[in-house]
Amino acid sequence: MADWLYKKRCNSIDEMTNLSLKIRSRLSELFVLEKEAPIFSQTSVDGTKKYLFEVGDNRYVESVYIPDKDRATLCISSQKGCKMGCKFCVTGKQGFKGNLTAQQILNQVFSIPESLSLTNIVYMGMGEPFDNFPAVLKSIQVLTSDWGVAMSPRRITVSTVGIMPVVNDFMEKTECHLAVSLHAPFGDKRSEIMPMQKPYPHTELIRMLKKYDWSGQRRLSFEYIVFKDFNDDEQSMKKLVYLLQHLRCRVNLIRFHASEGVPLEGVDMKKMIEIRDYLTSQGIITTIRASRGEDIMAACGLLAGKNTENSEQ
Ligand code: SF4
Repeated sequence: MADWLYKKRCNSIDEMTNLSLKIRSRLSELFVLEKEAPIFSQTSVDGTKKYLFEVGDNRYVESVYIPDKDRATLCISSQKGCKMGCKFCVTGKQGFKGNLTAQQILNQVFSIPESLSLTNIVYMGMGEPFDNFPAVLKSIQVLTSDWGVAMSPRRITVSTVGIMPVVNDFMEKTECHLAVSLHAPFGDKRSEIMPMQKPYPHTELIRMLKKYDWSGQRRLSFEYIVFKDFNDDEQSMKKLVYLLQHLRCRVNLIRFHASEGVPLEGVDMKKMIEIRDYLTSQGIITTIRASRGEDIMAACGLLAGKNTENSEQ
């Protein structure tokens, strides 16, 4: 059955022709096999596509398809809204409306037209994956198992604000890459924009991460949105270098996309390059994440899960 579902991607139980008629009819009594197609999509001038899915109770989540030369990445959501309350994030501002099931997470992967050509999946859409880890883990198992999609876990990245009690489970039960949303190297500053700093201080999180072996192919990265006059100064950079010393990792710098009601500003490209070059000179592999889909509100932190055809949402 897994073969029919995940390899052959069949659309009905009747297609499972190597199962007896009796089994197929019993299965049909018990299960419904259906992919729920996105109800709306928007394409950016840069080719990025945003998909909107209905996930029950008049709620919606979004996924973002990002084609790029030989890569095709899908950024998927794990929750309806989010509890984490990051001040710079549109999803966070909406509050939490519920967890997605593993089926709803996987449906985002299976139901888009580009499904079969996806090379990478990132759990960086709406929600905090570690706050819905049982369903996220189940979805990863389907994507990476030999009986499932058999995708390499090295092509999957899970992002987190750093919910420490889940880190160990994630490290032991998956082999996917980990991306930690850091965004500020000083605790007081991080608390200002990320309430989760309080229960899970970043210094303790980093200390915990240093205990794992990152010398293989598994990658640890820190996401750092650069905010003007907030975390872009020399002191912040020095502190960042200090925090990450003796840890094999990389830093992804992200340009901030201004959004309504958020009293933070982004920096220009010159500043981004200056920061990248400084961190690189200090031995930290640093990249500037290309901003994609800004014109359709598909870039980092802008996913709102709004059904534009439904004004009540
Ligand atoms: Fe939640 Fe991520 Fe937004 Fe923070 S940035 S509120 S964890 S969706």
